Amino acid sequence: MSEDPARAEQIRANLAAVREDLAAAARKADRDPSEITLIAVTKTYPASDVRILAELGVLDVGENRDQEAAPKAEATAGLGLRWHFIGQLQTNKAGSVAAYADFVHSVDRPRLVSALSKNAVRYDKVLTCLVQVDLGNAVPVDANTARGGALPNEVLPLADAIAEAPGLALGGLMAVAPLDEDPAAAFTRLHELALSLRSAHPSATMISAGMSGDLAEAVAAGATHVRIGSAILGIRR
Ligand SMILES: *Cc1c(COP(=O)(O)O)cnc(C)c1O
Repeated sequence: MSEDPARAEQIRANLAAVREDLAAAARKADRDPSEITLIAVTKTYPASDVRILAELGVLDVGENRDQEAAPKAEATAGLGLRWHFIGQLQTNKAGSVAAYADFVHSVDRPRLVSALSKNAVRYDKVLTCLVQVDLGNAVPVDANTARGGALPNEVLPLADAIAEAPGLALGGLMAVAPLDEDPAAAFTRLHELALSLRSAHPSATMISAGMSGDLAEAVAAGATHVRIGSAILGIRR
């Protein structure tokens, strides 16, 4: 492999530290670390880094822009990776994303459900979708800006639509902690929503929460999937 050994060593060391933090957070929360999946968020970093991660056993990778994710997925085809799409998704990109993604964490409106469903059927695959929840108190967005998730009262109807859509499976919920609030409090609300979702859809067990800065709070509040970028790959420029 044509990898830079120094870069590989840097990623290996960062990854080891993140895995330790994750294990410590799990122990503190009385949870088994093996029930928490680490998704490495590789946005802005090259396909060669994705290859290094795969060699280190990280097969779950996250991206937030289709323009960047599609070529990276193509360049690393055959490594057995699972691609998690975690960013705002325009309906007209649903076809492209459905081609390589295994999970879409950012489903926030009914039109996206139908677009993803149509394309999952076209590719004859099952695409696992999570409802992204707007936990509130976030910086207000104007009418032209894509929202950061569905409002809590929109979660169940959207989840029902995913569960009923051909080609889609309902995975659970995803959220990003608001900027102006203690992440522990916000993730506790997410956990409560996840429990009520689970009573309607018992197989929807995924809780995607926690980034480099709030991993421990997310694990304490029941996260099953953490999305870690900068702590593994470095601060993005
Ligand atoms: C970039 C990103 C992450 C990772 O953030 P870090 O702070 O670099 O760990 C997680 N989730 C989403 C939705 C992102 O866009």
